[in-house]
Amino acid sequence: MTGTAPRYDLPEIDAFTRPYWDAAADGRLLVRRCRAAGCGVAHHYPREFCPRCWSEDVSWEAASGRATLYTWSVVHRNDLPPFGGRVPYTAAVVDLAEGPRMMTEVVDCPEAELRIGMELRVCFRTDGEGGPAVPVFRPAPRRPESGGALR
Ligand SMILES: [Zn+2]
Repeated sequence: MTGTAPRYDLPEIDAFTRPYWDAAADGRLLVRRCRAAGCGVAHHYPREFCPRCWSEDVSWEAASGRATLYTWSVVHRNDLPPFGGRVPYTAAVVDLAEGPRMMTEVVDCPEAELRIGMELRVCFRTDGEGGPAVPVFRPAPRRPESGGALR
C-alpha cells in the first residue's frame, strides 16, 4: 500500500453540511429538527427538508449525544482503504435520544458485550491527518446504583 491510496471513508462536505462537520470538530453532534406546526420531528442524516412532512422549515439542533444500540455487524473484512486497517470494527445502527436512527460505529466495546438497547454516548474520531472528526459511539459509563448500599 502506498501513502497515496484512495480513501473511502471521507464524507463530502458542502455548504449545507458544513455546520454539521464544524460542530463535530468541536465535539458536538447536530441533528436537524423540523419547525413545521404539528411535526417537530428530528432527522439524521442532514437533509434540507423534513423527511416526514417535506417542510423546508428545518434547523440545526445540538443532540444530547445519547443513543441506544439498535443493531450491529462486526466487520472482519473490508478491502476499501482505510477500512482494511481497522478491521474488525463494529458497524452499527443506533437510535439517537432525539429519535433519528443513525448509521455509525461502536468503539471501545468487545463484541461479546454488545447488546441491543445498550446505552451509548457519542464520541468523535479523528484520523490525525486533517480529516473531519467523525461521530462514533461508545458504551455509556455505568451509572452508580441509586440507593444501593455498599457492603
Ligand atoms: Zn416535518
